[in-house]
Amino acid sequence: MTWTLFSQQPRVSELLFNSLRNQRLAHAYLFTGPRGAGKKQIALHLAKALFCKERVADACGLCLSCRRIEAGNHPDVHFITPEGTAIKIDQIRALQKEMAMRAVESFHKVYIIEHIDKMTTQAANSLLKFLEEPPAGVVALLLTENSHAILPTILSRCQIITFSPLSSEQLAKELQTSGIPAGMARVASHITTNLEEARIISQSDWFAQLRNVVIQLMKECKQRNSAALFTIQELFQKNDRLKEDLPLFLDLLILWLRDILYVQVGRHAQLINSDQQDVLQGQALVWTKAELLHGIDLVMETKNRIERNANAQLALERLVLQIQEG
Ligand SMILES: [Zn+2]
Repeated sequence: MTWTLFSQQPRVSELLFNSLRNQRLAHAYLFTGPRGAGKKQIALHLAKALFCKERVADACGLCLSCRRIEAGNHPDVHFITPEGTAIKIDQIRALQKEMAMRAVESFHKVYIIEHIDKMTTQAANSLLKFLEEPPAGVVALLLTENSHAILPTILSRCQIITFSPLSSEQLAKELQTSGIPAGMARVASHITTNLEEARIISQSDWFAQLRNVVIQLMKECKQRNSAALFTIQELFQKNDRLKEDLPLFLDLLILWLRDILYVQVGRHAQLINSDQQDVLQGQALVWTKAELLHGIDLVMETKNRIERNANAQLALERLVLQIQEG
């Protein structure tokens, strides 16, 4: 376990590593960025790096200190997360009491607060006072997905560190290293920018099933009969969950049409559904470029229509008929 592991946030890792190495760590950091960008992992790593017995300005992940932090039972590292929907003043008071005590294992004490934007007003005011007069050696790591929802007085007390969302390529790579097949990893990484969400999507049978329906439906669109309409009816009859996942379904449709285009122009390396090359090759022969571009427009329109509460099944049937008309 080293800083280099956080390849998805190289700027952040480098900045924190250098601050640690030069012993110029701030009293308080605000980590801001989308869910899944690695804020919590990096906060934990920073805490480990402060206490690690084996490495300087970095963490081994294996020594007793590192393991205790990972397990949440290190005496000098405190972790706060909303109780129910909010972080309450009692939690901040208890924290202040803990932080006022002498560090057990070294000079430092660390506290990590997740979802700092969810503090009650009293809790925020109490934390603010604490940030204004930080006890020596105490490091605050405040995490949020919504920095705009945080009191400016709190922001001004923190060094703000912005985590960028993962690129699709980074996401797909992360998914693959955890054992998800390349094809599914690529598709999921184009559906969401959130690592956890992408992991869940790419591992679910439902997602694989939806993509199979997309593939089938797009084949049927090229047959001049009502097979495609029948597929849609069946899809709605069999799946209660479909309505909420329709945007996902439509995204998959767009990715599929785009992939057929990619095959036609020979950009095989950019295929999203890279595990379906043979099927895509076949499809590339029966669609014209104009049809594909028009098809993508139509799917986008359908997405808008459904967001405005159009009847989902009707909207999808209309889409298929429009695509068939070319
Ligand atoms: Zn260690």
